[in-house]
Amino acid sequence: QVQRETPAAAPTSATTEVLGVALSNPGRVLWPDDGITKRDLAEYYEKIAGWILPQVAERPLSLVRCPDGVGKPCFFQRHMKHDLPEGIHAIDLDGDGEPAYVYVRDAAGLVGLAQIGVLELHAWGATVADPDGPDRLVLDLDPAEDVPWDMVKGAARAMHERLAQLDLDSFLKTTGGKGLHVVVPLTAGRQSWAEVKAFARGIAREFSLADPEHFVDVAAKLKRRGKIYIDYLRNDRKATSVAAYSPRARPGAPVSVPLRWSELAGLEAPQTYDLTSTVARLAKLRSDPWRELARVRQVLTPARLRAVGVK
Ligand code: ATP
Ligand code: MN
Ligand code: MN
Repeated sequence: QVQRETPAAAPTSATTEVLGVALSNPGRVLWPDDGITKRDLAEYYEKIAGWILPQVAERPLSLVRCPDGVGKPCFFQRHMKHDLPEGIHAIDLDGDGEPAYVYVRDAAGLVGLAQIGVLELHAWGATVADPDGPDRLVLDLDPAEDVPWDMVKGAARAMHERLAQLDLDSFLKTTGGKGLHVVVPLTAGRQSWAEVKAFARGIAREFSLADPEHFVDVAAKLKRRGKIYIDYLRNDRKATSVAAYSPRARPGAPVSVPLRWSELAGLEAPQTYDLTSTVARLAKLRSDPWRELARVRQVLTPARLRAVGVK
């Protein structure tokens, strides 16, 4: 009996285009538990571009790439020197003549990131126009495994109140992980990275001194049991934190979502929003919960630095 030769396998999926950017293997599953494909991710960016771009455009980005999706090897990429995909730009921030720090300017750039298997966007607290002039400070509340969610919410509220005492407006977002981020916009060009980091460290120290039962300001895992680590180290040149509206490379496709402070009380879990419910939330919102963030003008003055113990 002559064996029939099996026909060559058909290509698993054709190329498609989103916002003019070619997507290869658009059907590739990136979040297997959730059935979310590369095309779904690109379409997420297409739908929410107007929300995410003000948070990530023109900022150096570190990227979490998972070419074969969640559950397969991922890597955290700070530099990309060669073969930049469509819509992705690079800038030299090390002064070595090599443009290695990537950023995007528009929605096509976001689709370009989806194309190369980027599942998370982590942004600098400064823009490519002024990498040494931070315009954003992030207080990253990192609860140990055993910390109840209500305690994390209380910590964010306390942080908001302390910043308000210093006459600083702050903004809340979920991380898509286990904690919360409190974001303080700053007028660019008015404080250095050293000042931003010292201020963040000062606040973290204040909290851990005032309430050592609940807060720590040292990263050592052993000291963190039952406590919230106030991770102030997101605040430095080249440091990043997950960007608002970035998905996370975890089962469930959670998203880091900006909230109004008034929404904190009703927030039932840290991973309340995913790729689908974030789009639904934005479609229903009457106004941007972070509307004021872009308008706030505030500076880490010497008086504010002194107030948190920075000499
Ligand atoms: P959670 O709420 O679970 O804490 P998170 O995004 O704040 O979520 P963290 O673990 O607190 O998570 O923060 C990790 C930070 O470290 C990210 O902001 C990222 O920019 C940075 N980072 C540095 N190196 C890496 C790496 N190799 N992999 C992932 N993140 C890294
Ligand atoms: Mn965190
Ligand atoms: Mn952290």
